[in-house]
Amino acid sequence: MDGPLFTSESTTQHPSEETDGPPTPTKFVFVTGGVVSSLGKGIAASSLGRLLKSRGLRVVNQKLDPYINVDPGTMNPFQHGEVFVTDDGGETDLDLGHYERFTGENLKRTSNVTSGSIYLSVIQKERRGDYLGDTVQVIPHITNEIKDRIRRVGEQDVDVVITEVGGTVGDIESLPFLEAIRQFGNDVGRENVMFVHVTLVPYIATSEELKTKPTQHSVAELRSKGITPDVIIVRSDREIDEGVRKKISLFCDVQPRAVIAAPDARDIYEVPLILHDGGLDAVVCDRLGLVTGPPNLDAWRSMVDRALSSTRTIRVGIVGKYVGLPDAYLSVAEALRHAAAGQGLGLDLIWVPSDELTGLLADSYLEDLDGIVIPGGFGYRGVEGKVQAIRYARENRVPLLGLCLGLQCSVIEFGRNVLGLADANSTEFDPSTPHPVIDLMASQEDVEEKGGTMRLGLYAAKLAEGSKTRELYGQELVYERHRHRWEVNNRYRKDLEKAGMRLSGLSPDDNLVEYIELVDHPYFVGTQAHPEFRSRPDTPHPLFMGLVRAAAARTDQVVVLPETVDLTIE
Ligand code: GLN
Repeated sequence: MDGPLFTSESTTQHPSEETDGPPTPTKFVFVTGGVVSSLGKGIAASSLGRLLKSRGLRVVNQKLDPYINVDPGTMNPFQHGEVFVTDDGGETDLDLGHYERFTGENLKRTSNVTSGSIYLSVIQKERRGDYLGDTVQVIPHITNEIKDRIRRVGEQDVDVVITEVGGTVGDIESLPFLEAIRQFGNDVGRENVMFVHVTLVPYIATSEELKTKPTQHSVAELRSKGITPDVIIVRSDREIDEGVRKKISLFCDVQPRAVIAAPDARDIYEVPLILHDGGLDAVVCDRLGLVTGPPNLDAWRSMVDRALSSTRTIRVGIVGKYVGLPDAYLSVAEALRHAAAGQGLGLDLIWVPSDELTGLLADSYLEDLDGIVIPGGFGYRGVEGKVQAIRYARENRVPLLGLCLGLQCSVIEFGRNVLGLADANSTEFDPSTPHPVIDLMASQEDVEEKGGTMRLGLYAAKLAEGSKTRELYGQELVYERHRHRWEVNNRYRKDLEKAGMRLSGLSPDDNLVEYIELVDHPYFVGTQAHPEFRSRPDTPHPLFMGLVRAAAARTDQVVVLPETVDLTIE
C-alpha cells in the first residue's frame, strides 16, 4: 500500500444512512479481463463483492456475456460449464454462482445479460415500431439497451453494482459492451463509475522474470476504446515484487497502490483476503467516495482457515456424463467442498464417468468411495451407469445424495430392483416403457404460470415429520431451486412407500414428489431440486452436510457441525 486508508476506513457510517446532503448515488464498478481468458475474473469480481459487503455496503453483481445465445439454458455444459439457476428461474452463467457464494446475495435473472438477449429485445422493439423510422445501429441502440440493463440492476436497493464484462479485451464480440460501459461513465458521472482490469503477468522460466508487456498491451487496447483502468489486478503464479508493480503503474497510468497483486491462491475463498491485504477494497472505496468502516472478515477468515487446515479427508464420487469438464458440475463440487470444510474435513473429489459404469468392472470405480453424488442431467446417455451406481450405494449402504436426475434414477433403480418392475424407466429415456415410474406430471396451471414446460426457479416443499430430510433442514417448509420437466409418477407412490422408499417431501398441494429417502439405509436421500445452488462456503447446505457426515461416519471420523443455510424465504 502506498497511501493511507483514512478516507475509506475512518468511520463506520453506512453511505446510505448519511443524514446531510443528498443520498449517495449508486456506484458502478466494471471488471474487464485482459491477456487471456480463465484468469479468474469472476472470482475477482465476486471477491470485491464480498469485501464491499463486509464493509456494510449493499452490493449486487452482474455479468455481461458476449455470446449470441439468449441465455445459457440450451448450451452444452460440456462446452460452457454448468447452467446456474437463480431464485426467479433465470438460467444463467456459472459466474453468478461464484457471485452468490462469495457475497451471500441471491441474484435475479437480470444479473446475467448476453449479447443475444440484447439483440433480441432491440430487434423486437424495432419490429414493434418503437424506433420511429430510425436506422437501428450498434451505437446507440445496442449500447443503450446494454446501459439500460446495467441501470436496471442499479435500481435495486444497492450501494454498488459490480458488472463483469465476459471475454477478453480485444475480442470483437465484446466491443459493444466496452463502448456501453465507457458511455456509462459519462451518463452517471465519472465519480460514480470505476474500471477494474484483471490481467496476467506471466513468469518466463528461461529469463527467470515476470513479464508486464502483455498487461501493457492489454491496457493500451482498453484505452484505445476510451477506458482507462482505475485498478489493475495482476494475476500471476507467484508474488510480484515492487519493481513489477511500479512498472505496471508507470506504463499503464494507474497509481502504484491501485496495482493489486493476485498470486495463485490455495483456495478460491482465500482470494478476498488476498485482495484485501493488497488494498483493493480501500482503493475502490476511496475512488468512489464510499465512506465505511474496515471490512469485518473475521468469520470469512476462520472459514478459510478451517478449510485449509483439515487433515482428514473423505472420498466422494460425482457420477456424471460431463466429468471431463468439472465446471459442468461446479455448484455440486463447491457444495461438497463447503460441507466438508464446514465439518473440518478435506475432500477428495472423484470424478466417475457414468458411461463407464455399465460393464462388469462397474463396481471397481465405486469400491473405495465414502459417499456418492448423482447430479442432474438431461438425455439418456450415462443414465444406466447412474442406475448402477445407485444400486451399488443402496446394496452396500454407501451414503448417496441424488440431485434432480439423481432422484429420478434412484426411483428407476428402486422400481427395477426392489419393486421388480422390469424395464422401469423415465418416459424421457423410454417413452414406451411398461413402467413409467418417472413421467410428465406438471399441471396446466404450472405450465402457463412458468411460461414453459420446465419447472424453473424456487419452489416450496413440505417435509414429512420424522424423516431424515426434515431433521437435516430443521424445518417443515423449505424452498429450493428447480430445473427439470419430469417428476415421480404419482401412480407408483404407494408401491414405493410400501417397499421402503419414503417420500419425505411433497409440493404444498401434495401433487409432486420433491424428496425421497430410504428408510433402512445410513444416508440415501434424493431431491427433485438443485440444493447445490443455495450452498455457501460459510453456510453449507444441510443435505450436503448430511452426506458428508454419513461419509465421515463410514470412515469413523468425528465431525463438528456449524450452522447450515436458512432456507426459509419471505
Ligand atoms: N432430465 C430430467 C428432467 O428434465 C432431470 C433434469 C435435471 O436433472 N436438471 O426432469
